[in-house]
Amino acid sequence: MRDFSQNHDWLSINTATVRKQQGAEVPLDRIIDQCAERGIRAISPWRDQVAGVGIERIARQLKAHGIGLSGYCRGGFFPAPDAAGLKAALEDNRRAIDEAKTLDAPCLVLVVGALPGALDGRAAYKDLGRARAEVHDGIAASLDYAREVGMPLAIEPLHPMQAADRACINTLEQALDLCDELDPARSGMLGVALDVYHVWWDPKLEQQIERAGRERLLAYHVCDWLTPTRDLLSDRGMMGDGVVELRKIRGWVEAAGFQGFSEVEIFSVLDWWQRSGEETLDTCIERHRSAV
Ligand code: ZN
Repeated sequence: MRDFSQNHDWLSINTATVRKQQGAEVPLDRIIDQCAERGIRAISPWRDQVAGVGIERIARQLKAHGIGLSGYCRGGFFPAPDAAGLKAALEDNRRAIDEAKTLDAPCLVLVVGALPGALDGRAAYKDLGRARAEVHDGIAASLDYAREVGMPLAIEPLHPMQAADRACINTLEQALDLCDELDPARSGMLGVALDVYHVWWDPKLEQQIERAGRERLLAYHVCDWLTPTRDLLSDRGMMGDGVVELRKIRGWVEAAGFQGFSEVEIFSVLDWWQRSGEETLDTCIERHRSAV
């Protein structure tokens, strides 16, 4: 297992971690400068943050700083109430794949979607099986295009508390079953983004990480699970502040062949978004060394 205690070479920052500091939206170019000042080698930005500055400008800035991507957030949200909605989702995913390519991302992360409309409190239907079928078809169609342009797709299984509104793929096993069905050759073009916040509780986690192997483990996201959790979406903890056995899980992931970045992804309305981006980034570096 790699020793992270001496440097932060394998730290990546998911830019949602430092985007809403002290009530203000921090533009992505500023976040990239803050990361560059700290010798952080990789980030994972969100599409709306990139669009806010302009993708060509972001691509140039990343290149100038020598900062790479550990992933691009995000595609997915395939289910829709009608054919027009399903088609629009596919077109949007195609654009996301193109953007990921422009930014030279190693993968496009997919939060696959669930009951359409549920995120706004108005689910168009309640059939989770239908949503899962639409996700299957959406990924299959997107994978054809992803293969054409050479952009791997990383399915992120989300904690079942988000099955209604964000993702109806909820365990690593379920994600890997889909990968095996759509990409039986393990081509490297379809895999998973493993986020400890979503999967740490799973009794099959170690076994399924081993099953995933190097070809399927495309991204690794870290934070911590706080007790109590005060907000289901936005009360993620800083590594070391919660109950996730981060070292143990990274050991499993590395034993399976993963040698990439540990991407810190913390949505924290009540704590880290109340502090400055500088303090948050400095703490990420320190905890990457001591707790990840
Ligand atoms: Zn994640």
